[in-house]
Amino acid sequence: MSGFFREGNALMCDGVPLEDVARTHGTPVYVYSAESVRRAYRSLDEAFGAHPHRIHYALKANSSLAIVRLLRSLGSGVDANSIGEIELAMRAGFSPVDIVFTGVGKSPDEIDRAVQLGLKAINAESAGELDRIDRAARAHGVRARVAVRVNPDIDAGTHPHVSTGLHINKFGVPLEHARALYHKMSDQPGLEPVGIHVHLGSQIVTLEPMQRAAATVVKMVQELRQAGVTLDHIDVGGGLGISYDGSRVPSAAEYARSILSVLGPSGLSIAMEPGRFLVGASAALLARVVDLKDGAAGHHFAVLDAGMTELIRPALYGSFHRIEAVTPRQARELCYDIVGPICESSDAFGEARKLPALEVGDLLAILDAGAYGSAMASNYNRHSLPAEVMIDGGEARLTRRRQTLDDQLSLEIGG
Ligand SMILES: *Cc1c(COP(=O)(O)O)cnc(C)c1O
Repeated sequence: MSGFFREGNALMCDGVPLEDVARTHGTPVYVYSAESVRRAYRSLDEAFGAHPHRIHYALKANSSLAIVRLLRSLGSGVDANSIGEIELAMRAGFSPVDIVFTGVGKSPDEIDRAVQLGLKAINAESAGELDRIDRAARAHGVRARVAVRVNPDIDAGTHPHVSTGLHINKFGVPLEHARALYHKMSDQPGLEPVGIHVHLGSQIVTLEPMQRAAATVVKMVQELRQAGVTLDHIDVGGGLGISYDGSRVPSAAEYARSILSVLGPSGLSIAMEPGRFLVGASAALLARVVDLKDGAAGHHFAVLDAGMTELIRPALYGSFHRIEAVTPRQARELCYDIVGPICESSDAFGEARKLPALEVGDLLAILDAGAYGSAMASNYNRHSLPAEVMIDGGEARLTRRRQTLDDQLSLEIGG
């Protein structure tokens, strides 16, 4: 097993006591289990077995260099959503052919750079974007490898803010338009159609919608083939969920089986873009209790030194995260609303959580914070970005120092 477990009373990360990490590096701090990332990557890679496939880690879930380098060492490619993520991937040692570029609303500069680099594929979001990619490629005398992102109008049953595959969502093009776009490419010398892309959303815990989306693109690929357009990969996007509350979710093996049952016969290679699945469970956010108070009607509030500035998912999507005392006291349990210090009522991590009575200074761990945690942190209320520590082989290594006010002000003229 890897990740976050108790030894006796103390919560540890792969053998290292979290109390020690907090004492050494202060709080709030993100603590990552390298082994947890390795295990998730291998489980997915092995699940697809001998079928030609490539995992393109979705950088937006967490693009801290230590995580990105770790995934590269495992053989992963990446899915980038901006030029910033592309440049970061290059600095982490990825080659252009390891990178797929997705993103609604690519700027002229982003298209220009992507075309010049020669990425594995630019996942195009619209007819207009394909025209712009074509023009940029011809201006540079190259052919850009592209895939059209189709919007299959399938409900993935996830939170409305992380659903992307419905016709009301801004992502991709309708199926019937996509077909026409592939045919038009024969008159666009700057474009080389290499794949087709679909991504339904995030934190998806039922396989059926993903299987249906895969079947839809397979059908399209076959129609295109008959019409003389041959592609070499199907990009099934990301979105595979993890269990935040202990309920059962599909395993990598079940996911692979359901996707392969429809994609296998097409003979095309599979690209996939998991983010959360690879890193979600790999981190805890450690924070200390800075105040305790009782509201009206017997409400107990525990106020932490971390808030929505460090982990915004609960405030943004009403997401659930398990919250545990790192070293629970031998005391009766009380029911706490666990909140942050930010001046927003949505700045809360959990409601009515049962924990052994807390004292100011106690250390709490907010679990499964590896995806869309650090990556979405902000300087609101002039919070400095937290430190990050990676546990690997029994050693705790600082992978990002805590930001300082001087770091923040270094961007401000006269700061
Ligand atoms: C966000 C995103 C992903 C990753 O989603 P997860 O839910 O983290 O797996 C993959 N592909 C695209 C296009 C995305 O926008």
